[in-house]
Amino acid sequence: MRNKGFTLVELMVVVAIIIILAAILVPRYLDVTDQAKASKCMANQRTVEGAVSVYMADHEGTMPGAVSDLTPTYIETTPTCPSSGGYTYDSSVGSYTCSLNEHQRSY
Ligand SMILES: [Zn+2]
Repeated sequence: MRNKGFTLVELMVVVAIIIILAAILVPRYLDVTDQAKASKCMANQRTVEGAVSVYMADHEGTMPGAVSDLTPTYIETTPTCPSSGGYTYDSSVGSYTCSLNEHQRSY
Protein backbone atom coordinates (compact mmCIF):
# COMPACT_ATOMS: atom_id res chain seq x y z
CA MET A 1 0.00 0.00 0.00
CA ARG A 2 1.27 3.39 -0.98
CA ASN A 3 1.45 6.16 1.68
CA LYS A 4 -0.45 9.33 0.91
CA GLY A 5 1.40 12.61 1.27
CA PHE A 6 4.30 14.52 -0.27
CA THR A 7 7.74 13.17 -0.99
CA LEU A 8 10.81 14.97 0.25
CA VAL A 9 11.63 16.14 -3.29
CA GLU A 10 8.16 17.66 -3.72
CA LEU A 11 8.48 19.52 -0.42
CA MET A 12 11.96 20.78 -1.36
CA VAL A 13 10.65 22.08 -4.70
CA VAL A 14 7.83 23.97 -2.94
CA VAL A 15 10.22 25.44 -0.37
CA ALA A 16 12.63 26.48 -3.14
CA ILE A 17 9.81 28.25 -5.02
CA ILE A 18 8.77 30.09 -1.85
CA ILE A 19 12.37 31.19 -1.21
CA ILE A 20 12.75 32.44 -4.80
CA LEU A 21 9.50 34.43 -4.59
CA ALA A 22 10.54 35.94 -1.25
CA ALA A 23 13.93 36.91 -2.67
CA ILE A 24 12.18 38.80 -5.47
CA LEU A 25 9.34 40.40 -3.49
CA VAL A 26 11.04 41.54 -0.26
CA PRO A 27 13.50 44.00 -1.90
CA ARG A 28 10.68 45.40 -4.06
CA TYR A 29 8.52 45.93 -0.99
CA LEU A 30 11.36 47.72 0.80
CA ASP A 31 11.90 49.98 -2.25
CA VAL A 32 8.22 50.90 -2.35
CA THR A 33 8.19 51.76 1.36
CA ASP A 34 11.30 53.92 0.99
CA GLN A 35 9.74 55.75 -1.96
CA ALA A 36 6.54 56.33 0.03
CA LYS A 37 8.53 57.76 2.95
CA ALA A 38 10.47 60.07 0.61
CA SER A 39 7.21 61.27 -0.99
CA LYS A 40 5.68 61.95 2.42
CA CYS A 41 8.79 63.85 3.50
CA MET A 42 8.77 65.98 0.33
CA ALA A 43 5.09 66.74 0.89
CA ASN A 44 5.97 67.84 4.44
CA GLN A 45 8.67 70.14 3.04
CA ARG A 46 6.13 71.73 0.67
CA THR A 47 3.74 72.22 3.59
CA VAL A 48 6.47 73.89 5.65
CA GLU A 49 7.44 76.05 2.68
CA GLY A 50 3.86 77.32 2.35
CA ALA A 51 3.60 77.98 6.07
CA VAL A 52 6.92 79.87 6.05
CA SER A 53 5.60 82.09 3.26
CA VAL A 54 2.53 83.00 5.31
CA TYR A 55 4.68 83.46 8.45
CA MET A 56 7.00 85.83 6.58
CA ALA A 57 4.05 87.79 5.24
CA ASP A 58 2.76 88.20 8.81
CA HIS A 59 6.19 89.08 10.27
CA GLU A 60 7.48 91.59 7.70
CA GLY A 61 9.83 89.16 5.95
CA THR A 62 11.36 87.58 9.05
CA MET A 63 12.07 83.83 8.82
CA PRO A 64 10.81 81.59 11.64
CA GLY A 65 13.63 80.37 13.89
CA ALA A 66 12.56 76.74 13.59
CA VAL A 67 9.79 74.67 12.04
CA SER A 68 8.21 74.33 15.49
CA ASP A 69 7.70 78.15 15.55
CA LEU A 70 5.04 77.65 12.85
CA THR A 71 2.71 75.67 15.11
CA PRO A 72 -0.12 76.01 15.87
CA THR A 73 -0.79 79.24 13.99
CA TYR A 74 0.55 78.31 10.55
CA ILE A 75 0.68 74.49 10.73
CA GLU A 76 -1.55 72.43 13.00
CA THR A 77 1.26 70.06 14.04
CA THR A 78 4.99 70.13 13.40
CA PRO A 79 5.68 67.77 10.49
CA THR A 80 8.27 65.07 11.07
CA CYS A 81 10.25 63.06 8.56
CA PRO A 82 8.96 59.46 8.37
CA SER A 83 12.58 58.24 8.19
CA SER A 84 13.70 60.19 11.28
CA GLY A 85 15.40 62.97 9.32
CA GLY A 86 15.27 66.53 10.62
CA TYR A 87 14.09 69.72 8.93
CA THR A 88 16.69 72.47 8.93
CA TYR A 89 16.89 75.76 7.10
CA ASP A 90 18.98 75.56 3.93
CA SER A 91 20.02 79.03 2.84
CA SER A 92 21.11 77.80 -0.62
CA VAL A 93 17.50 76.99 -1.54
CA GLY A 94 15.88 79.42 0.93
CA SER A 95 13.68 76.82 2.58
CA TYR A 96 13.55 74.11 5.19
CA THR A 97 14.87 70.80 3.85
CA CYS A 98 15.24 67.29 5.21
CA SER A 99 18.63 66.22 6.51
CA LEU A 100 18.44 62.96 4.53
CA ASN A 101 19.94 63.22 1.04
CA GLU A 102 17.34 60.91 -0.53
CA HIS A 103 14.57 63.24 0.67
CA GLN A 104 15.97 66.38 -0.98
CA ARG A 105 13.59 68.08 -3.35
CA SER A 106 14.73 69.43 -6.68
CA TYR A 107 14.23 73.19 -6.88
ZN1 LIG B 1 12.96 63.22 5.28
